[in-house]
Amino acid sequence: MISFYPGPSRVYDEIPTYVKDAHKKGILSMNHRSEEFVAISKKTVSLLKEKLNIPESYSVFFATSATECWEIIAQSLISESSLHIFNGAFGEKWFDYTHRLVPGAQSFRFDPESKLDIRKLPLKNQEVICITQNETSNGTEVNNKLIATVKRKNSRALVVVDATSSMAGIELNFKSADVWFASVQKCFGLPAGLAVMVCSPQAIQYMKSINEKKHYNSLAYIDEMMNKWQTNCTPNVLGIYLLMRVLRKRKPMEHIHQKSIARALGWQKFFRGAKNLKLHIKNQGVRSLTVLTLTGHPERITEIKTLAKDAGLLLGEGYGSLKPTTFRIANFPAIRNSEIKKLMRFLEKYK
Ligand SMILES: *Cc1c(COP(=O)(O)O)cnc(C)c1O
Repeated sequence: MISFYPGPSRVYDEIPTYVKDAHKKGILSMNHRSEEFVAISKKTVSLLKEKLNIPESYSVFFATSATECWEIIAQSLISESSLHIFNGAFGEKWFDYTHRLVPGAQSFRFDPESKLDIRKLPLKNQEVICITQNETSNGTEVNNKLIATVKRKNSRALVVVDATSSMAGIELNFKSADVWFASVQKCFGLPAGLAVMVCSPQAIQYMKSINEKKHYNSLAYIDEMMNKWQTNCTPNVLGIYLLMRVLRKRKPMEHIHQKSIARALGWQKFFRGAKNLKLHIKNQGVRSLTVLTLTGHPERITEIKTLAKDAGLLLGEGYGSLKPTTFRIANFPAIRNSEIKKLMRFLEKYK
């Protein structure tokens, strides 16, 4: 089965070999306070910085999922209020979770077909501004330039970005915001159970000023431990090891970015003029480069998903309220060109 699910998604072909290596090298039962783990953790962080172009001054932490990152941020980086800017189900969920912990959290919903209009945002005196860079549920993105503008217009606020389905798939300008996070089962091409959280010096300073220490995963503890290349609890050592191995072989981000763009445009061209399947997002200027959402008649959508599965091609279900009328195709780096061709050949008959 070839998975085009936008998470958990197709993993790199080398993963089984790396898992075997991990077993041979004793990584599966490695002590997370050992020197050997510290070496792996240190190497992984340095590779993340090198391969994803993360500024040297930023801190990198490990968590278990993007959902945990939502919680860490709500606990440790927001004292009174946050502004959540979103146009789909993941951004909304992030707002809902935060609102339960931080009653002062506010939401700003915008139209998925329109570019985020900065002039309409209540940007004055915000404490933390939360943006979903790539909305996996509907296949839209907020581009780097817009994120940088939000930060520039409110430089004292922390700008926090959920890049779960784009980090490692497209180039992100980490300097333009304070916190970025992603779990690895999407563009990283790895099995689920690990997330990466990246924080600017301003975010670390703000975290220290709040000094929240009520939770096992308070960022203050995570930071304290990471200063020794360790984690607040026993981490997913195998996940971190696999991340290190995959990153070592990874091409430069610029190369992967160009490839993601070329493939996204290839898909868009493929569906141009199609009768039964239309790109769910009509405005090309806001379409995601890593997640494609197709819309059609509910019966047709169900039929295509079933037939695709029979042909060994796993399409992503529609998400939330879009479930009956859409399916999604991941455009993640681990997917091979030959696999995309195969899916195109299959869809040719139904589009
Ligand atoms: C998948 C996804 C999440 C949730 O990730 P988990 O690792 O399952 O917690 C959050 N935000 C976005 C944008 C996602 O695509």
